[in-house]
Amino acid sequence: MSKLKISELFYSIQGEGRYIGVPSVFLRTYGCNFKCSGFGMPKGELSDERNKIDASSITEYKNLPLVSTGCDSYASWDPRFKHLSPVLSVDSIADSICDILPHGRWMDEHLVITGGEPLLGWQRSYPDLLSHEKMKPLKEITFETNGTQMLSDEFKSYLQEWKRNREKNALTFSVSPKLSVSGESWNEAILPNVIRQYQDVGFVYLKFVVASEEDVLEAEKATQEYKNCGFKGPVYLMPVGGVESVYTLNAKNVALAAMKRGWRYSDRLQVPLFKNEWGT
Ligand code: SF4
Repeated sequence: MSKLKISELFYSIQGEGRYIGVPSVFLRTYGCNFKCSGFGMPKGELSDERNKIDASSITEYKNLPLVSTGCDSYASWDPRFKHLSPVLSVDSIADSICDILPHGRWMDEHLVITGGEPLLGWQRSYPDLLSHEKMKPLKEITFETNGTQMLSDEFKSYLQEWKRNREKNALTFSVSPKLSVSGESWNEAILPNVIRQYQDVGFVYLKFVVASEEDVLEAEKATQEYKNCGFKGPVYLMPVGGVESVYTLNAKNVALAAMKRGWRYSDRLQVPLFKNEWGT
């Protein structure tokens, strides 16, 4: 039976992007190909905030400190926190999902498969999970991805089949390409061919996390590269999370920058609603 290494599994309200406000089960897989240590830092500097946390003293996700710089889901990929993410069978994951759904089974809730980067090797396990008897009523899935991982031929075919008897937009790829504010390099982060492949299977939108005018200009440049490669979906700008004092653009200015370009604005509802705590 297939297994997945799961960092978090929780029920909440989607706080970002196209399905903002929709009740959703979040399945956070372990592992990421990036570190994104530049978030919240002055240009060119990388955060080491997570390195200062004594990982050995932490036994549960709920006890993890929140960070205001770098990746806010650091424990879903940093090997020092690997012990917090159990390897679970798809049977046990499907059971746990039903346990946290308000009616004990799927109704109109959405499944968000997130990370880390959820399209790394776990692609091989999703077909078993999504085909599980308890997962059959599920109507809509979003993969929250950094947009760098191609779909395997097997997984792509499986998703096409999964979608066949469902609504047109049953499958969404929420792609958050990492601009230089993340600390990752352009050549490794902006991969238009990958997004074009997702578009063959589902609905794709781009969601750029920005902190300054310079980031917005980079988002424009990246969007043009994606469009040149055939990208057709909408573009969202979302303010960077964490402390606001180091940003030149606040939420209102991010909204204005989006409006100016005919793009969409995405809030981060989990911050005002739940203080961005783990499990929200
Ligand atoms: S891609 Fe996402 S999960 Fe991975 S390090 Fe960056 S922000 Fe964190």
